[in-house]
Amino acid sequence: MPERVITRFAPTPSGPLHVGHLLAALSARRLADAHGGHCLLRVEDIDVTRSRSREWVELMYEDLAWVGLRFDGEVMVQSTRFDVYAQALERLKSMGLLYPCFCTRAEIKAQIAEMGRAPHATLGCLYPGTCRHLSPEQAAERIARGDAHAWRIDMQRAQDLIGCPLWHDLHRGVQRCVPTEYGDVVLARKEMPASYHLAVVVDDAAQGVTHVTRGMDLFAATNIHRVLQAVLALPVPAYCHHGLLCDNAGKRLAKRDGARSLASLRAAGYSAQQVLDSLHTALANKGIWQV
Ligand code: GLU
Repeated sequence: MPERVITRFAPTPSGPLHVGHLLAALSARRLADAHGGHCLLRVEDIDVTRSRSREWVELMYEDLAWVGLRFDGEVMVQSTRFDVYAQALERLKSMGLLYPCFCTRAEIKAQIAEMGRAPHATLGCLYPGTCRHLSPEQAAERIARGDAHAWRIDMQRAQDLIGCPLWHDLHRGVQRCVPTEYGDVVLARKEMPASYHLAVVVDDAAQGVTHVTRGMDLFAATNIHRVLQAVLALPVPAYCHHGLLCDNAGKRLAKRDGARSLASLRAAGYSAQQVLDSLHTALANKGIWQV
């Protein structure tokens, strides 16, 4: 164990906080408390195209206060840190690890269809790498022309540089990451100057996070994060991916399902203690949420 355990809860304000968020928040708080550590709060509001995110952030503070969850230190707000992410991006560019991609979503879909099958993917369909083959002159010309583009990481180059790094999941032991299995993911695009993957590793390092607790839905993404930590020479936290809540039919609760939002449970007359009790009952019952 490091000298001080630092965990974090890092919600994206794309809607009201949901019982699944509460599980993630409680897991982070508990792990910190079990070791006399700190649990920080980070608002992951980098998607500036979401018009209602301010509103959701306000509601999030109300919900957290209602359930009595407290966090240590200052709140980090990602939308104030685009300059820091831009620096990380420049560093990756200067290492020759990024390339501009001009493909639209429809083009990528068509390219994959033409190949007859999607390239092997752990995280959905992988980008087939079309723009990786543009010459630097061709790419520069298209950028100068003002063509819309995203910046992708060249995972083969990353793998040549760092090999297959390891990371540790507290429940599942040592994991070996093969960078090329995750595809050349987008790290930035015009309307979103830093992707979740880039911002999360930069910020976990900036906040000194020693233990990342979050749901199993992000287990595969941790491999991408591990690649970025390796190429940017950032410290590597331990990971703790918890199970996800599901309904009676075993279907994962959707984040957008308003009925399981803390605000709607509160409006329906449930007390914070009842919601916390229901969460404990769900955890003792294969994650099945009954309310
Ligand atoms: N912001 C992400 C979410 O709300 C969680 C990110 C993380 O814990 O790394 O799903």
